Amino acid sequence: MLPSPAPSARDLGVIFSAAWQTDPMSDRRVLVNLRGLLTPDPAQTWAVDRIPEAALAIEDGRVAWIGRASDLPATWADAPRVDGGGAWATPGFVDPHTHLLFGGNRSGEFNRRLAGVSYQQLAAEGGGIRETVRATRAASVDELVASGEERLMAFHARGVVHLECKTGYGLELEAESRLTAAYAELKRRGWSLDVTLLPAHDLAPEFNGNAEANARAVAEDWLPELVRRHPGVARFCDVFVETGVFSADQGRRIFEAGKRLGLIPRVHADELTWTGGAELAAELGAASADHLMFCSEAGMKAMAVADATPVLLPGTTLFLGMRDWAPARKMIEVGCRVALATDFNPGSCPCLDPLTILRLGCLQLRMTFEESFTAMTLHAARSLRHSDLGHLHPGARAEVLLWDVEEMLELVYWVGEPFRPRFCPA
Ligand SMILES: [Zn+2]
Repeated sequence: MLPSPAPSARDLGVIFSAAWQTDPMSDRRVLVNLRGLLTPDPAQTWAVDRIPEAALAIEDGRVAWIGRASDLPATWADAPRVDGGGAWATPGFVDPHTHLLFGGNRSGEFNRRLAGVSYQQLAAEGGGIRETVRATRAASVDELVASGEERLMAFHARGVVHLECKTGYGLELEAESRLTAAYAELKRRGWSLDVTLLPAHDLAPEFNGNAEANARAVAEDWLPELVRRHPGVARFCDVFVETGVFSADQGRRIFEAGKRLGLIPRVHADELTWTGGAELAAELGAASADHLMFCSEAGMKAMAVADATPVLLPGTTLFLGMRDWAPARKMIEVGCRVALATDFNPGSCPCLDPLTILRLGCLQLRMTFEESFTAMTLHAARSLRHSDLGHLHPGARAEVLLWDVEEMLELVYWVGEPFRPRFCPA
């Protein structure tokens, strides 16, 4: 069944925002009249449970029971019912790699790129990431919060219930501090986020290409000061380890400084060239290494052993028109728990749509529907070290999406359709 045209995220944002702010309810309820329930099994790597004619019991904002409606235990007989309307129930999507906050956008530059102007030419004119850094440095905390909240509403309308968000378009202490303050305010408003400090997203213009001095400033001054000013806001830190940006050695020193401050490493790794980023992530006990189009087989195996999650970003490969898709099949073969993310950012992937990424996982990374879905739920949550997101087994947060389709595979099959989930009142 094809969906009717959905109202825009902006129309629905306020309602969805209220629904997302998960005040644990102290009551019990049972979601019934479901065509089925699809959820990854958190005890396995790639197994997906597919329960027809399902019911789902919720207590205190958490899943208490799932199974066939006909098997619902008698203890739930008197609990209020919520009508699922014959939909499929699934866990909400988790997006483990976004650059949510930045000033301006680069649509003008994109149009010039389409007209044949090269990246090098744009960079020589002060465009590219430099343009975003200028606009971000000029933005107030209030402006960053307002644009961030609009983007979060768009993500949520498409079924994303939790995101990782990075700083990184400030490239100096005060602007990075305003970005961190804006994330703190979004969290205070109830959005479900993990914050990653990424002042080493690129070389700051003030360092005139001196990566060594730039890395030292990040490790010795900026990270400690950001954590001191904004205690408890960030959980992770990140470095763009890439030829011409930060070397693996410089990355290692920044990550070690981050770890001393309690920040868990995530690595922008092996995106444009092989730089040993995956190997570094494994060595550091990083939660993830992200991008990995040029990851070595040794790096993949090291990540599998260290249980660092490869977070693949196929939207970026698409948007940049590159030919090298990340080797997802090989990673699955060597035992990695692959996750997928949007990489939402103004330069290389201005995409807020999890379905686009789900489809690219299947169509370009050659993952099955179940693998791609698991990568955007269970393994995405796991890469952020959340065991109660990305699945609907008992104990999970009751972030339940309802999809009006006959089979869940239709989300990928009807390739251009803007499916939007409904939300189960938790
Ligand atoms: Zn990124």
